[in-house]
Amino acid sequence: MEKVLITRRISDDALALIRNSGYETTVYAELKNISQDELIKMCEGHVGLLSVGPNQIDEHFLGACPQLKGIALMSVGYDKVDLEAANKHRMPISNTPDVLSEATADTAFLLMLSVARNAFYMHKSIERGEWNFFDPMQNLGQELYGKTLGVLGLGRIGLEMAKKAKAAYGMDIIYHNRNRNEQAEKELGAKYLSFDELLQQSDVLTVHVNLTEETKGLFDKSAFSKMKPNAIFINTARGAIHNEEDLLLALQNGTIWGAGLDVTNPEPMDSNNPLLNMENVCVLPHIGSATKETREKMAMMAAENIVAALKGERMPQVINPEVYK
Ligand code: NAP
Repeated sequence: MEKVLITRRISDDALALIRNSGYETTVYAELKNISQDELIKMCEGHVGLLSVGPNQIDEHFLGACPQLKGIALMSVGYDKVDLEAANKHRMPISNTPDVLSEATADTAFLLMLSVARNAFYMHKSIERGEWNFFDPMQNLGQELYGKTLGVLGLGRIGLEMAKKAKAAYGMDIIYHNRNRNEQAEKELGAKYLSFDELLQQSDVLTVHVNLTEETKGLFDKSAFSKMKPNAIFINTARGAIHNEEDLLLALQNGTIWGAGLDVTNPEPMDSNNPLLNMENVCVLPHIGSATKETREKMAMMAAENIVAALKGERMPQVINPEVYK
């Protein structure tokens, strides 16, 4: 029987889908990071890979695993995939779009509101025994009503975040993409701006672009210096899109007001990172899509894709359709 390697525990239903389609499954259940060489070794004897987590799929990996017929990622982001190498090896690769958009936008919204009200720091202040008396001039956050939400990357997740911010706080939506998002312009009155205009006009700037060579390090000293002093920076996309030292300095100097991060640079964040002790900073350990419901849907989608690849069918969520030409 042909075998599929799954690099982390996934839901029983998703495993059953693969097994009931006639394939054996190997689940790597140890909770530690896997090096690329370990992954290559683990792939031996398997024709399908369901890749959970940041496994690098590049020329070296693909050259070393010629037996693979398809790779299903259990994520929408595919910044760890070298698409050129995948096309060269005619390796179909799929991702899990749409099913995680609401959960991830919820995380961005959670961070936006938490930063605006210093929520994580306030929680820690109770633990430190600092909740002593009522002072009306202490612990003051800022309101979001009628403010301007800037979205860098108004795609699937960015749109969900914009909808929530508009519905909850009547926020004005401005955005920057490479192409215009006509749906968002029509439904939300979203206004298309240049990247610099977005920096200058956002009260909250939420990042939802894909990590690419173009977006890597985009939020650096120069970008933060163009933002408003009351601005809140939210990143739930990928940590490498911001320069974390420049972000720390921008927060320490009051260049911007606060930051909410679900993704950090590097990951995991060091537990001594000074960002963790700042009043206007909220950090989460990359839990954007981490709800029971969403992870179930992601696992099912990845399972359906790997089964399609092994049956010689087109993967429904293929990211490199060129391989089918
Ligand atoms: P998507 O629908 O493809 O949206 C990405 C948006 O970014 C598009 O509107 C795209 O528009 C824009 N964009 C891409 N490159 C750009 C550039 N160089 N300059 C300006 N805009 C650019 O993707 P999605 O499903 O919303 O997911 C977005 C990202 O979220 C993923 O790639 C992943 O890294 C991250 N994510 C994180 C978590 C988490 O757990 N924290 C969970 C899910 C996803 P144009 O093509 O018009 O430029």
